[in-house]
Amino acid sequence: MLNQLTISELTARLARREVSTRQAMQACLDQIQRVDGRVKAFLSYDAADALAQADAADRQITAGTDFKTQPLLGVPIAVKDVLAVKNQPLNCGSKILGKFISPYDATVIERLRAAGAIVFGRLNMDEFAMGSSTENSAFFTTLNPWDTSRIPGGSSGGSAAAVAADECLATLGSDTGGSIRQPAALCGCVGLKPTYGRVSRYGLVAFASSLDQIGPFTKNVHDAAMLLNVISGLDPRDSTSLPQPVPDYAAALDGSVKGLKLGLPKEYRIGGLDPDVKNAVDAAVKHLEKLGVELIDISLPHSDYAVATYYIIATAEASANLARFDGIRYGARVDGSDPVSLYSNTRGAGFGAEVKRRIILGTYVLSSGYYDAYYLRAQKVRTLIRQDFLKAFEQVDAIVSPTTPTAAFKVGEKSADPLQMYLSDIFTISCNLAGICGVSLRCGFTNSSPQLPIGLQLVGHPFGEATILKIAHAYEQTTDWLKRRPVLSA
Ligand code: GLN
Repeated sequence: MLNQLTISELTARLARREVSTRQAMQACLDQIQRVDGRVKAFLSYDAADALAQADAADRQITAGTDFKTQPLLGVPIAVKDVLAVKNQPLNCGSKILGKFISPYDATVIERLRAAGAIVFGRLNMDEFAMGSSTENSAFFTTLNPWDTSRIPGGSSGGSAAAVAADECLATLGSDTGGSIRQPAALCGCVGLKPTYGRVSRYGLVAFASSLDQIGPFTKNVHDAAMLLNVISGLDPRDSTSLPQPVPDYAAALDGSVKGLKLGLPKEYRIGGLDPDVKNAVDAAVKHLEKLGVELIDISLPHSDYAVATYYIIATAEASANLARFDGIRYGARVDGSDPVSLYSNTRGAGFGAEVKRRIILGTYVLSSGYYDAYYLRAQKVRTLIRQDFLKAFEQVDAIVSPTTPTAAFKVGEKSADPLQMYLSDIFTISCNLAGICGVSLRCGFTNSSPQLPIGLQLVGHPFGEATILKIAHAYEQTTDWLKRRPVLSA
């Protein structure tokens, strides 16, 4: 089935003219018809537009387009509902944007299109990317294709579930505190958060501007490298994007990991780690050692403060970023007798409980009298966390850990307790605070029934994507976890 292929498998077949893009796109649409009633990854999609894009790609292939200049030609890719795609709805998993239609393409979308991809569909997410389960979506909860009584992770839960259920070949998501790596781990796909500044955020609706990055969800590591090649690089429209050259990440996957030094942080040996997760990660680390990686014990002494620091900085930035949703400029409006009541009626009706909680927390930590005690102190701790990593990277090439403390949890299991939910991000959050890169990939399954995928996280130094992808690829190539598919999509 064409929807089950990886990007490089599909483009190889397209290049040999064995199959058409239309057939591949149709296979994805058929799969969505078949399984999305159970998975609920998509908020919406336009089948006619997707097929028209497929036909245009087929015409290009017939005319003899080179897959080197258009490496994603004919590849169906869906995106999280936080990225602007021209003439498509943009809701951020929220009611407050009403019937808003995006007037322009985000830079990553432009780049996908320039590489030949078919960009289609809006994927479900926690409202404004705040959450770890998609239960905070204002529309519905996405379910985990491996066990539909469980959540897919979040906030990019739709992006992870759509790839795991083979509803498309790859997706884009955003990661502010783990929102790519955590759902990738819980759904068993590859999810990459690039270094801060690697990928332009122009056209990404901001949650916490000093932490947000866009990245890919794919079926294997090679595909993640291919997508990163396409979306990376300086963009004059995002002043935080950086001019570092973009290496060919896919070409660097040569299997040679001998002599690379991998750090094992002692602070990550926490209580509360699920035994299945611990065993799978320990076995993966041993496997990497067999491949020639050198293991080194390291310390990241400020790790304990990461979750608290994140929830001050992220909420502070969110409270400022979300001020623009006022009922005047975008989307839905609930009228009032004067401007202030219009704002509060609109925001009261338009935002969900978690978004309101974050705005209130963020406004509080920025308020005069509390700013120094919370926000300023959090910024200082953030610097210490970044220094911990930079110091560790003087000794090691990458750092390994579980992506999440447990596999996918049940719908409703943590939604009543925000602190429990926040703790599911303990291994992913520091990477955003430090501005560095991380990837999650499948490294085993739980012993539960049905079995659930487990994620291994590799964290790299600033602009160290090539190194973590290389290690991830060597691991993936010498293990056979990818042979399994969720029963839904088999
Ligand atoms: N789960 C974290 C939060 O709720 C991270 C979200 C994200 O990365 N967008 O803030």
